[in-house]
Amino acid sequence: MSRGDMAKPLLGNGGMEGDPSITPAAGRTIGVLGSGDFARSLAIRLVCSGFKVVVGSRNPKRKAGLFPSAAEVTFQAEAVKKTDVIFVAVFREHYSTLCDLADVLAGKILVDVSNNTEINHHKESNAEYLASLFPACTVVKGFNVVSAWTLQSGARDGNKQVLICSNNQEAKRTVAEIAQVMGFTPVDMGCMSSACEIENIPLRLLPAWKIPILLALGLFLCFFTYNLVRQVIHPYIREQKNKFYKIPVEVVNTTLPCVAYVMLSLVYLPGVLAACSQLYYGTKYRRFPDWLDQWLQHRKQIGLLSFFCAALHAVYSLCLPMRRSHRYQLIETAVKQAVEKKMNIWVEEEVWRMEIYISVGIIALGLLSLLAITSLPSIANSLNWREFSFVQSTLGFIALVISTLHTLTYGWSRAFDENQYKFYLPPTYTLTLLVPCTVILAKVIFNLPCIHQRLLRIRRGWEKGRYVKFVLPSATGEYSSGETSSNV
Ligand code: NAP
Repeated sequence: MSRGDMAKPLLGNGGMEGDPSITPAAGRTIGVLGSGDFARSLAIRLVCSGFKVVVGSRNPKRKAGLFPSAAEVTFQAEAVKKTDVIFVAVFREHYSTLCDLADVLAGKILVDVSNNTEINHHKESNAEYLASLFPACTVVKGFNVVSAWTLQSGARDGNKQVLICSNNQEAKRTVAEIAQVMGFTPVDMGCMSSACEIENIPLRLLPAWKIPILLALGLFLCFFTYNLVRQVIHPYIREQKNKFYKIPVEVVNTTLPCVAYVMLSLVYLPGVLAACSQLYYGTKYRRFPDWLDQWLQHRKQIGLLSFFCAALHAVYSLCLPMRRSHRYQLIETAVKQAVEKKMNIWVEEEVWRMEIYISVGIIALGLLSLLAITSLPSIANSLNWREFSFVQSTLGFIALVISTLHTLTYGWSRAFDENQYKFYLPPTYTLTLLVPCTVILAKVIFNLPCIHQRLLRIRRGWEKGRYVKFVLPSATGEYSSGETSSNV
């Protein structure tokens, strides 16, 4: 953003004319204590949103050039006197150095934007600490989840949510209005006790992805070891053949589809377990065990990782003919045929198997891409519930069935060939089929009319053997209570 742009309001009055619930916040003077990265970006965004900005610095002369010309940069005490709302863009360690300003700050709103370097770093949150240092001020926690970059990039890009909490409703409302005029979406997180949670949010690294990533890595490791033993260790021990060159591409490429396929089935397995639980207990009001709840919540990430592995498998497979080893093997085969004077090596069954295998693989990858795209919030938000459920549930299940066909055509009759049982270990594809086939079978059973109807009724609130309390007047005119079982 050029300095020329900085001076003119981007949003005017936040585009909120006509909304009676919002008082015009733009135009008021906002104070910013500190002149660092965050203070600078905040000042730019405030100026662009139509606010007057006064920046309080320990060294205003040196720092003034860094701010838009529309912002006034002055000493801390001077800045604080000119406004009622002050953003404290200073690190927690330096809060105590602001104590000299306690008198001028009294009765004002302080917005604590600070973050920590570690989760639950201090006993009390930074905002609570600031409030303890300035008991005559009202402290609001907010804006810490947006970065200096997001502030500068304007309303067009970056995270738009600003989480706010405070013990003072009025102060919270004032800061929420300012956030809204700046183009952010304020989210009320309640009272000051939530500050710790808000301060921990920017420090969390992909919290929803931890379990799915560990799951994918675990599966990858298991299948990789299994394939390594079958494809490399077995020929080395039994035939003294050096096949270690297969590790970087071939072994990885036989491992990736196993992970993708099993992960895809793990997206649908918790739904099957949930349905079993509902059928068994005859109610939808019984809480699922915590592990199943967690699993259900991670289905999107597990599905996306499945797509990631499938996409990598596709790229690896396309690159297989590029390998030097592949070219040598082709030439070797051709020479052998020439020596043996074999003219026709065409095996009809093999040709068909490969054609079908590749075709269903491409379709499965296409469907997985569709699932991945529709799970993006921007796309998911544009679908209604039925469309979303059709893509994620119906098309997802079809993708699982097609992936099963892909696996079966890959394996073909290998499961019945005893040479394929290296060290008595069955071919990898037979192992991968276990969970997906269980899921497919369960889904087929759930779709049998008698089970489907029962499941449908349970999901609409019907309960098996529900006890309904009733109250009857007795002969003496008193009321007696009892219980009856009714299938509602
Ligand atoms: P910074 O660049 O280091 O700026 C900190 C500012 O604090 C300095 O420029 C300084 O301004 C002022 N300050 C006041 N008293 C001080 C003292 N005793 N010692 C040193 N500096 C003092 O840090 P920042 O990145 O702007 O971060 C400021 C606050 O915003 C932090 O609490 C941070 O957690 C939070 N935050 C930052 C980001 C981000 O993307 N950077 C995002 C969210 C939250 P003067 O010299 O002019 O007084």
